[in-house]
Amino acid sequence: MLKTTTHNTMHNNLKAADPTTFNDIFTQLQQHYGHLPWWPADTEYEMMVGAILTQNTNWKNVEKALANLAGHLTGKIAPQQILAMPLDTLAQLIRSSGYYNQKAIKLKALTLWYQKYDFDISQARCIEGATLRIELLAVNGIGPETADSILVYALDKPFFIIDNYTRRILHRIGFELPTGYDKLRLLLEQNIPRNITTYQQYHALLVEHAKRYCTKIPQCQHCPLYCCCQKNIE
Ligand code: SF4
Repeated sequence: MLKTTTHNTMHNNLKAADPTTFNDIFTQLQQHYGHLPWWPADTEYEMMVGAILTQNTNWKNVEKALANLAGHLTGKIAPQQILAMPLDTLAQLIRSSGYYNQKAIKLKALTLWYQKYDFDISQARCIEGATLRIELLAVNGIGPETADSILVYALDKPFFIIDNYTRRILHRIGFELPTGYDKLRLLLEQNIPRNITTYQQYHALLVEHAKRYCTKIPQCQHCPLYCCCQKNIE
């Protein structure tokens, strides 16, 4: 069980990273929310497309763009069709996701990378995660959060995804967090056993929790993490 804390808004008393606590947070969230079926996609390629489209927008807009694409392609979104499609057409189809001209270029770049593996996810999964991460980060428009999302949810490689929700929740609970994406990722990877199912579920749980309780103005009263949280809320 999580330890009860009496601290409240005590920035000078931040917790150091602690595997027990990180694992307890996971257990508490898992007990509260159950298994979350993430990422919502029919194929690994569609997952990768969604990871690009969701940059700087909400998932509803992504769903519209994916539905548009699927409608135009009469069903499944296939990488061969995305590569063959004129850039302007692709941009118009994903318009609802915002930054559609840039995202169309990014989708083409990601699909060209995937072509290297004959659009075969099992071929890509044979490659070591660290190598795939370097390759993805070299693709135009793919930053660490998008790369790690693709690694975790399409390629089954355990990297801890860092997003604003992760930072917000862990900061409020009271952890001393390093600045910089990779520093925080490595800290979590050193403290949470590197298991793909855990990493897929942990990220999904943090996103769900940030939407349900640990919102901008948090709903602490009924929060499942109430007892372990220092509530460092600005
Ligand atoms: S909702 Fe409140 S109690 Fe729960 S994690 Fe966020 S800040 Fe902590």
